[in-house]
Amino acid sequence: MAEAVIQTGKLSSANAPEREYPLEYTRNIGIAAHIDAGKTTLTERILFYTGMIHRIGDVDDGNTVTDWMEQERERGITITAAAITCFWKPKQEEGIHKLWTNVPHRVNIIDTPGHVDFTAEVERSLRVLDGAVAVFCGVAGVQPQSETVWRQASKYHVPRIAFINKMDRVGANFERAVDDVRKKLGANAWPILIPIGKEDYLQGVVDVVSQRAYIWPEEKTNEAQQGAFYQVTDIPADMVDQIKEARRSLIEAIANLDDKIAEYFLSEQEPPIAELKAAIRRQTVANKFVPVAGGSAFKKKGVQPLVDAVIDYLPCPLDVPDIKGINPHTKEEKHATPDDKGKFVSLAFKLWSDPFVGRLVFFRCYAGKLEKGQTIHNSRTGKRERISRLLQIQADKRQEIDCIYSGDIGAIIGLRNVTTGDTLCDEDSEIALEPPTFPEPVISMAVEPKTKADQEKMGIALQRLSEEDPTFRVKTDHETGQTIISGMGELHLEIIRDRMFREFKVEANSGKPQIAYREAITKPADGEGKFIRQSGGRGQYGHVIIKIEPLERGKGVLVENKVTGGRIPREFIPAAIYGVEEACNTGVLAGYPLVDVHVEILDGSYHDVDSNELAFQLAGSFALKEAVKQASPIILEPIMKVELVTPVDYQGDLIGDINRRRGIVQSIEPRENVVVVHAQVPLAELFGYATDIRSLSKGRASYSMEPSHFDPVPSSIQKQILEQRGDQSTRRRS
Ligand code: GDP
Repeated sequence: MAEAVIQTGKLSSANAPEREYPLEYTRNIGIAAHIDAGKTTLTERILFYTGMIHRIGDVDDGNTVTDWMEQERERGITITAAAITCFWKPKQEEGIHKLWTNVPHRVNIIDTPGHVDFTAEVERSLRVLDGAVAVFCGVAGVQPQSETVWRQASKYHVPRIAFINKMDRVGANFERAVDDVRKKLGANAWPILIPIGKEDYLQGVVDVVSQRAYIWPEEKTNEAQQGAFYQVTDIPADMVDQIKEARRSLIEAIANLDDKIAEYFLSEQEPPIAELKAAIRRQTVANKFVPVAGGSAFKKKGVQPLVDAVIDYLPCPLDVPDIKGINPHTKEEKHATPDDKGKFVSLAFKLWSDPFVGRLVFFRCYAGKLEKGQTIHNSRTGKRERISRLLQIQADKRQEIDCIYSGDIGAIIGLRNVTTGDTLCDEDSEIALEPPTFPEPVISMAVEPKTKADQEKMGIALQRLSEEDPTFRVKTDHETGQTIISGMGELHLEIIRDRMFREFKVEANSGKPQIAYREAITKPADGEGKFIRQSGGRGQYGHVIIKIEPLERGKGVLVENKVTGGRIPREFIPAAIYGVEEACNTGVLAGYPLVDVHVEILDGSYHDVDSNELAFQLAGSFALKEAVKQASPIILEPIMKVELVTPVDYQGDLIGDINRRRGIVQSIEPRENVVVVHAQVPLAELFGYATDIRSLSKGRASYSMEPSHFDPVPSSIQKQILEQRGDQSTRRRS
């Protein structure tokens, strides 16, 4: 990676002369956080101040721009990340130093959803972004979902600014939230924009680097109420010492990382402001430092300086390491460097069926450029496709464009055969970028079309929806013949059903949500499978001997070929492996997928004439089933990490309730007026939790949860599960 881009004036030669916003003046950022932390509100404000919308909506009125799906408006949560382009020119302001004053920038924002049911969306977005604003609630601080999002951002090395929102709420505490970000997330986080006052007295923020205050007046004029108007002034007298100290700590923190600032610090000199800013940018871009800003999106205080901070401190596409991939044929490693003159390389990170224009493929262009009419290559399918229409999305508006340059985000209309994670590139320079990874679904539900006419439509709808969403799966239960859909939570599946109805006009009944259990083995075992038919003519002959042993949790299925001396001819090995893998999809106990198993194919035999692939596939499958029966199989259930925030009065009842749900309380943390309980609870015991918790705490406690891991179910419950499965299949057969 190059030094973070700081100098204005000289632009990189990677820029095509005709592009309007050079790479240096482009930011691809995500806004990521816990549900309800205020991402949607913040995004809305940013779009307003950047002139993309002309009226500020409020989530609670259901008229924000990013929440443009009908369901989202109804639910007030952001379900689908919308990629939005906006433009920002850091304003000249008295006494405030900015790295790019008066230089127009293009900011592509991805509003990522915070609900745990939609982590795949977050993961996908982080993959294609260069930087993120992590939003925290000034009252609750770091919540479990914020931790998840933070970890995901760390996984993809996404530099971040932390925004401590809701400073206007009762109980807001900026220092405590910053401390939380340091302790819980291990971030080297230091304030750059400190709130002036809090709760009802929140007035604005102080720019720690420039030592100036932004104050939003409490006037009743329309402009003032929209927060568009603020004053830049001296730091309030009662904050002067605090800000001095904050600035000193900030410089010290940067000096610990940055040689240039260290020199000033050690010789007790004040670093020049431009150098200090440049160093903060360098260290933020290098992921070693997290600038923290405070404010209130809702009260429209602190948003404009935050956008300035995004421009000043978050990376441009030239600042981040080249995206890596492989040559799909030779498997050799390849890079894609942002350069408009290079070969086109892009990653399709989101598919979306838009009711008006049809299917949209959101993509990030890493190198080269894509023009309307160009033909591209899909590395996964090996197919070529022509691009007929290109779009830039501005919330629910769709702006047709002719060309997208490296480092930018856009959408293609009318592309077939493409799924999330596909690399789209130049035909004569193939590359396959590493696709994002996704968690396993934890909830399943049977769906049945209402009429015969719905049957076919349902198949199409489910296929489309599963292409869009990698955490949503569809399968047919061989025992019962039912269509089973699985996803990340009740809400996730409910939305899918809703979309089937609204977008595909499919009417379907659904069963009760069920836990997506898994099966696993507890000890090693051997297995032998034979498929031999010799009834005149050409027969069938496959024979496979395997050994299986348990793998660590979360490791999935690993099948290895250890056959020596051609005891199974090489051409039949893939079939045997396929048979084993297929058999793992349906466990022997209750038909749930078998996971965390290491299978070695050791031996077997063949027949010169009768052996074929199908026979070896079946033999592999039989061998696995036999081995698993000997390996004391068990059922695993998804365990959720739950965080409960409750007034002290209800603590006892709520903890008692967690125990009744087979939960384990891991820690109890007192905060001002409330306690925060961390627990692990089996998902199976959490149906209806929202209602119960409301009645136990008279509506005063709140909770959030996210999938943690899979654990074996207690034997009594395993028995119940097996009995239920038995009942279902007998009922179906009779
Ligand atoms: P998201 O789930 O993170 O997208 O959060 P939303 O933007 O939907 O906000 C959740 C709730 O918090 C809504 O009721 C907002 O009005 C409210 N909210 C957002 N930002 C603030 C803020 O700065 N102060 C206060 N008091 N409420 C806020």
